[in-house]
Amino acid sequence: MKIFYDLNGSLYANITNKCPCACRFCLRNNGDSVGGNDSLWLEHEPTIDEIKSAFDEVDKSKYNEVVFCGYGEPMERASDLIEVAKYIKEKSDLRIRINTNGLVLLMHPTFDLSSMEGLIDSLSISLNASDPEKYYYITNSKFGLPSYNSMLSFAVSASAFVPNVVFTIVGVVDDDEVNACKERAADLGIPLKIRSYISNNTDYN
Ligand code: SF4
Repeated sequence: MKIFYDLNGSLYANITNKCPCACRFCLRNNGDSVGGNDSLWLEHEPTIDEIKSAFDEVDKSKYNEVVFCGYGEPMERASDLIEVAKYIKEKSDLRIRINTNGLVLLMHPTFDLSSMEGLIDSLSISLNASDPEKYYYITNSKFGLPSYNSMLSFAVSASAFVPNVVFTIVGVVDDDEVNACKERAADLGIPLKIRSYISNNTDYN
């Protein structure tokens, strides 16, 4: 099964297929993989040892960063991810980024954000929208409307422990919403990155 995969010259880690959301633009709606890789649907949730073994097989010389981002929300396995991040730092000089929906404090309320310090170099958090209702419309988070403020709170709190934190939105929303998202991000002092829409899901508004 595909735990580590290459995408556009970067090394990605696919450690879970679990996710509390069902986003309208999720790549999982449109196929089994990305970038010509084998299926990213895992045969089972890999153990920490399986993830470590898979990392041992990777030619690290081709990369400068590991991105936790696959066919699921990596922070579903927050404590396991931290253990794997420690191993990656022990075995390589690769930087580590997590692409996340930012809902770890709802998934794992006791997760210690300070455990990311010195391990996680970057967080890319899906802002998705400028308010809780729009966010819920896009993500269908199982945690409902409180998801949005939890995600914002996580972003602010995590900034104390992770040097590079950015918000992202998918660039298919109208200009007013983009500007509202920019204001929301600026209010929190977190940069906003607008990502390309790389899905063929035409249901998105
Ligand atoms: S949070 Fe990510 S993995 Fe989960 S449904 Fe949304 S886009 Fe897909």
